[in-house]
Amino acid sequence: MPVLLVKRITLFSFGFLFAAFVCSPLRFSFAQDFSLDKEALQTRVRQLDFQDADVQRAHLDWIFQLAALYEKEGNVSEAIELYDKGLRIDGWRWEHQLILAKLLCRSGATKAALEKAKLVYHYAEDSSLVDEAEEVLSALGFYPDGLKTSFPKNPSGQVEIVLVPMGPVDLRLLEEVRQEAQAKTGIVYSVATNGLNPGEPDLTGSNLFLKKLSDSIEGTLPLQRLIEMLTEEHLTREDLRTSEGMGKFLERISRETSVFPRGVVSEYQRQLLEAQKEERFDARRLRAGLEKAYPMGKYPNAQGYIGIISKVITASDGGDSSRAWFAPGQGYGVMTYRLFTASFRKEKPNRPRLRSRFIKELAYNTFQILGFQECSNPICVVAASENTANIDEKGEDLCPVCRGFLEDYLKKIKPGVYPPFRVVREANQLIDEGRYNEAMETFERAHQLNPKNLEVRLLLARLYDDTDHLEEALALYRDLLKKNPQEPQVLSAFLWFCANHTWWPYGQDEGLAIKEGMAEGEKALSRWNTDPVFLETYGWLAYKAEQPEWAERLLRQSLTYEATARRFYILSAVCSQLRKRGEALRAFQQAELISKKDHNYDPSHNFHQLAETMLQGYPDSSQGESEEVIQEGRPAER
Ligand SMILES: [Zn+2]
Repeated sequence: MPVLLVKRITLFSFGFLFAAFVCSPLRFSFAQDFSLDKEALQTRVRQLDFQDADVQRAHLDWIFQLAALYEKEGNVSEAIELYDKGLRIDGWRWEHQLILAKLLCRSGATKAALEKAKLVYHYAEDSSLVDEAEEVLSALGFYPDGLKTSFPKNPSGQVEIVLVPMGPVDLRLLEEVRQEAQAKTGIVYSVATNGLNPGEPDLTGSNLFLKKLSDSIEGTLPLQRLIEMLTEEHLTREDLRTSEGMGKFLERISRETSVFPRGVVSEYQRQLLEAQKEERFDARRLRAGLEKAYPMGKYPNAQGYIGIISKVITASDGGDSSRAWFAPGQGYGVMTYRLFTASFRKEKPNRPRLRSRFIKELAYNTFQILGFQECSNPICVVAASENTANIDEKGEDLCPVCRGFLEDYLKKIKPGVYPPFRVVREANQLIDEGRYNEAMETFERAHQLNPKNLEVRLLLARLYDDTDHLEEALALYRDLLKKNPQEPQVLSAFLWFCANHTWWPYGQDEGLAIKEGMAEGEKALSRWNTDPVFLETYGWLAYKAEQPEWAERLLRQSLTYEATARRFYILSAVCSQLRKRGEALRAFQQAELISKKDHNYDPSHNFHQLAETMLQGYPDSSQGESEEVIQEGRPAER
């Protein structure tokens, strides 16, 4: 048996660790030999002249080390020659281009110095290098004309989007992006004078690192073997997500076989430490903070606020990085440019590329928070992009169709005229307060501003629903579903409507809405089976349709994508109905735990109360009975 075990581990050991380490955004670092003296360096650099380009590139550091030595000695001409030589092999090293510019300055070659400094000024991503290049340029009497920091305030009352720096942000980059985005869209962008402190990081890279490593282990080891090993170490599968648990598990594996790479535990600890340094901020928390600090009206012409951060943000509990987080048409969003940087993507630094990605993402997010739909033209800047490579593929400009929408919109918005999302919000508020006539007037205004805005159409459906015009609501939902098959939010709104009218319409068609909703849900399942909101709403409908087994499966699936308080509360109610008291209690506790930090949890819906009532109403049959028997059998206390 032990022999078999060793054999099995040999098979998987390298595979899974390699996979896990490759997945992680970290790289192994190699120690460099810095101990060479001047003479040895000179010999090696001379020999490099006779080597091919690949060898020269691999030993570039010798050239730059020797160049730095010459520079230190004051041997300017030798240093210039060597830096120039190295940069002909790899011109992407902007820090060395800057040194060369300064050396050229010192030697009086101002024209060549100017060219080098301009290069760094335009192409380096590191803002401190750009600042230094600017100093060199102005010392040479050249003032770059790219930046005018005193941009006029928005006097005409046009559509204004306020960019709010959150924590340390490259302000020069932001200013460049702001100006270009403004020129391209015609929307006025401004930068808030007071940034927002993003607070302490919510996660570090270690959460994601441990998740990937444990997923990899779970995917490689036979499940039975994994559980045996975990049990012997008194660990659970959840423990593999913790640094102590994973460390203990890896130590156990490396003890068991000599074939296993010896350094794996220390390599794991090194990578874990690295990952812990990477800060991750919860985008949902940042967005909530932004909305609180910048209420609508703080900037009189602002139609939206976008928080800008230079750190990794995450909008999932697994800690996966996100580019941006916003609710469409709600006027608030948070985005990061960290994922676009060369240092994050292990690319050569290229400032125009960084700026271009930033502008595209900003334009896309602007359209989103204003409530426009994504464009289906893949070249248009408003097209959806899965990843940075997709962003690179699309253009920076609006296609003629989107340009038309935007121009039409910009014409209608005047000072004091609210954009659709504000009107939608106001109307929703009025519906909540039962002021339906006013809500209808508000809807009309929003509809005129942007007839194609989906939020506005959905608002009308909600108005019909709440004013008991259920026939009209159903007809509108059917129409919206037909015209927007690609929008899961329409489907979710419809399923929600069906769930709220369990027996409607009464009479011979009794329960038609709920049947139609269930049919639509089933039809859409293969398409949206990874959309947590759809799964949740469909699960809620299944619960109302008295199909608790099906509801439980849907809710559990939605929870694997994103754990929210509401989903756990519904799951708890479903489990109560299924008489699984333990499961119901556990889900309830999870919900309580999350609701304290869930920024999206809306307590007004009171799923909490539903789950609580269900817990009281459906005691576990077996346990409940036995308890009663014991109580009945106990002699009365006097
Ligand atoms: Zn377009």
